[in-house]
Amino acid sequence: MEKMLEVKNLNFSFHTYGGIVKAVRGVTFDVNEGEVIGIVGESGCGKSVTAQCLIRLNPEPPGFFDEGSIKYKGKEISKMSDKEMRKIRGVEIGFIFQDPMTSLNPTMKVGKQIEEIFIQRKLYNKKELKDKALEILKMVGISDGERRYNQYPHELSGGMKQRVMIAIALVGNPGIIIADEPTTSLDVTIEAQILDLLKDLQKKLKTSIVLITHDLGVIAKMCDRVLVMYGGKIVERGMVDDIFYNTKHPYTSGLLCSIASLETEKDEELQPIEGTPPDLFSPPPGCPFAARCEYAMEVCYKIMPPEYEITEEHQTMCWLQHENSLDIKLPCKKVI
Ligand code: SF4
Ligand code: MG
Repeated sequence: MEKMLEVKNLNFSFHTYGGIVKAVRGVTFDVNEGEVIGIVGESGCGKSVTAQCLIRLNPEPPGFFDEGSIKYKGKEISKMSDKEMRKIRGVEIGFIFQDPMTSLNPTMKVGKQIEEIFIQRKLYNKKELKDKALEILKMVGISDGERRYNQYPHELSGGMKQRVMIAIALVGNPGIIIADEPTTSLDVTIEAQILDLLKDLQKKLKTSIVLITHDLGVIAKMCDRVLVMYGGKIVERGMVDDIFYNTKHPYTSGLLCSIASLETEKDEELQPIEGTPPDLFSPPPGCPFAARCEYAMEVCYKIMPPEYEITEEHQTMCWLQHENSLDIKLPCKKVI
């Protein structure tokens, strides 16, 4: 299977008035062709910064890569020039954000925005452009395409804008789509429709997706594999079933226990676990979760736990996996 994305030891920081914030610390993961990877965690855990690094949308400065590598189909993108990046972003690497207006141009009609990407990709000749744009609108479930084609983004409802954004993310036939909280601002019914649509198209087109969310219900519905982020690090990773049924990190367990069901109120970022995330100006030397962890031991405060392998696909960064630790079964609640 081809690797669409290879992220190795990604470190990204920001200069702020208060000092340097280490937002992403040593993040490593791959995305295979046709795979949907979820990145889940509370607000401020580094998941959105990671997503933005993948398409180089982090403002640099004040942000900067400390080190690490991001390869898209083997090409290093962390060091590409802005010009090179513009050819890839939104074309080979599509993106869908919570706020559609980050990728829709408010001054341009919907149809023209779609055609613009066709032109960039040299996909069709001039005569075909409109028909192809209407085809794309139909594909994302917009039945009155002819009317929408001539509308500006502000004339569309939230759900409709999200559909157009998905259309725009897909038109270049990208190898991968980065979706950051794509449905967080929508109500539950529309959210379900948009997620179904995204999943259907993903299967049909075999596009890879990196899906960033704070919502484990969305992960359960959409993803093959999951990365759980905390304090700028991936603290647990595994297949969806590993994460939901065989949780090996107290933070993941806390996230699972904090949601009642898939119908949990969705408009709040999760604030489920007592305490606050670590200070990323001067991250603690040990486990980033130690201050909030009910299982914390002395070693946890002093030394960063290594990533322990539970199975080939399932790893956790927690001292509880050390051979001398107590055998603790972490609680979790069935949410799928
Ligand atoms: Fe808790 Fe220690 Fe595991 Fe960190 S390493 S999650 S503090 S038990
Ligand atoms: Mg975010």
